[in-house]
Amino acid sequence: MRPKLVVGNWKMNGSRAGNATLVAGLLAGLDGANASCAVCVPAPYLPQCEQLLAGTPVAWGAQDVSQHASGAYTGEVSAAMLADFSCRYVIVGHSERRAYHGESSELVAHKAKAALEAGLTPIVCVGETLDQREAGQTASVVGSQLAAVLELLDDAQVEKIVVAYEPVWAIGTGRNATPEMAQEVHAQLRMQLKERSVQAGASVAILYGGSMKPDNAKELMAQPDIDGGLVGGAALKAADFLAILHAA
Ligand code: PEP
Repeated sequence: MRPKLVVGNWKMNGSRAGNATLVAGLLAGLDGANASCAVCVPAPYLPQCEQLLAGTPVAWGAQDVSQHASGAYTGEVSAAMLADFSCRYVIVGHSERRAYHGESSELVAHKAKAALEAGLTPIVCVGETLDQREAGQTASVVGSQLAAVLELLDDAQVEKIVVAYEPVWAIGTGRNATPEMAQEVHAQLRMQLKERSVQAGASVAILYGGSMKPDNAKELMAQPDIDGGLVGGAALKAADFLAILHAA
């Protein structure tokens, strides 16, 4: 059985004071959790989170990374910089970045590679829009998003990624995929990983994201190919995030 992982995506939320309260609440409620957990925070708060979380069971990470190593890329943050703040994870290809910043699957693949080369674990997000689902394109859309990453990475790198299936229509909408809908896509993604590397198929964690909440987390994470969650809105309240973590 693969270990479960629950990751909070704070998105563009937080403040120094608010983060301190949220993290204190999280740390107070971890006992008895069966899953690993992490928070992906806005880049300016990485030093604060490193200070608050070092030596605790909660890992931290970022929400995006540059594909470039260094240089004249104003506003970008490199993977080495994230590693400098002891990040373990970085989200790449979140649907909000694909939609609002025009990130292609090829760019996402290069970001995943840059992360791996700096010793970080990329959480590679894939997911279809509502129109694509209704047009019967879910399998081809998520398949091609993952394929771009698998093409660029070598086998050893593929084995180190985390994949997150996040149907775009479920993100921040309160409308989650049913466990059966999510499991169907997760099984497809696992098969795709397995065809590339038997080891990757067996060991890569595939998280579900999209309105995961305390009341649906258990059923979702009970599915055989759902190895945890990528949690947005519910990660901003310690009690909700902890309830999801304990449901794993
Ligand atoms: C996300 O943005 O990664 C996400 C899953 O958001 P939410 O849980 O709010 O749907």
